[in-house]
Amino acid sequence: MSPGKPSILVTGGAGYIGSHAVLALKRAGYDVVVLDNLVYGHRDLVEKVLQVELIVGDTGDRGLLDHLFATHNIAAVMHFSAYAYVGESVADPAKYYHNNVLGTLTLLEAMLAASIKKFVFSSTCATYGIPEVVPITEDHPQNPINPYGATKLMVERILSDFDAAYDFKSVRFRYFNAAGADPNGKLGEDHNPETHLIPLVLLTALGKRESISIFGTDYPTPDGTCIRDYIHVSDLADAHILGLEYLLNGGSSEVFNLGNGNGFSVREVIETASHVTGRDIKILECDRRPGDPPVLIGSSDKARKILNWQPQYSSIKEIVSHAWQWHQKRHE
Ligand code: UDP
Repeated sequence: MSPGKPSILVTGGAGYIGSHAVLALKRAGYDVVVLDNLVYGHRDLVEKVLQVELIVGDTGDRGLLDHLFATHNIAAVMHFSAYAYVGESVADPAKYYHNNVLGTLTLLEAMLAASIKKFVFSSTCATYGIPEVVPITEDHPQNPINPYGATKLMVERILSDFDAAYDFKSVRFRYFNAAGADPNGKLGEDHNPETHLIPLVLLTALGKRESISIFGTDYPTPDGTCIRDYIHVSDLADAHILGLEYLLNGGSSEVFNLGNGNGFSVREVIETASHVTGRDIKILECDRRPGDPPVLIGSSDKARKILNWQPQYSSIKEIVSHAWQWHQKRHE
């Protein structure tokens, strides 16, 4: 039984990047089904805000997947669901390998069994490890320095092998620092616990936190703090639509960086947030956080060229403003 017009299955559609992708899919006219175990995702986002079907469960649940694929006409899968806390992955690698690798392998096997062979995968710049050169291009060596990055690299390898053996086509996106929120205020970032710089700075501006810690002020960068490439989450979501359509149109398997090609230091982000919010943000200068490369900047020329991807919101001010709009709505 495969009733209805083709749908896109979005795993992790109740999470931060996945929910923005669901919104972009809906706007592009696709039917969407979300699979999410709701460990970190939000039921309300899917059911009330996005208003798409939510199936609660794990990607490692083969019985559930077989039933899902038998009862829905799925044309392709976008796979966002993964654990993504670097520190936790170091402390509890089993949790990460189990969910991110085994769970994904189970999903891929169920897809093969159902003859669904188009897959858009959330990978990460963490697969590169410490960059030898910036901006990082897709052919840069991949030497992840934490289990989180290793799990994503393993799935990338599985996808290459599946393509060679089973003609299984995938687009692998290596994200740089996803940030910001839907410009229309429908969605935003809501992690628990929150570890990312921009939401933590804004929670400090809102008075929900005492201060923002700067992890390391002695890096070999102009102001001594780490530089990252912040990419707007709605631009990431748009890239997923382009990647999906590329595959649906018969494209071969490809890997693309998704960043905006500009780097901003931790201090620059905090200054931007002070400016955007008009509030004092107390800073605490702290030791380095283990595993942080000094500079991560990606080249997304390939995605621009092959997918014709054109990020709309590349200024850090816009990214922080959209995030601020969301955090104010959520917390005040
Ligand atoms: N960072 C910081 N204070 C915080 C959180 C993050 O100084 O409270 C720094 C972190 O060391 C890194 C940058 O901000 O250099 C971005 O960190 P985030 O956790 O947002 O993303 P990551 O680069 O780890 O994916």
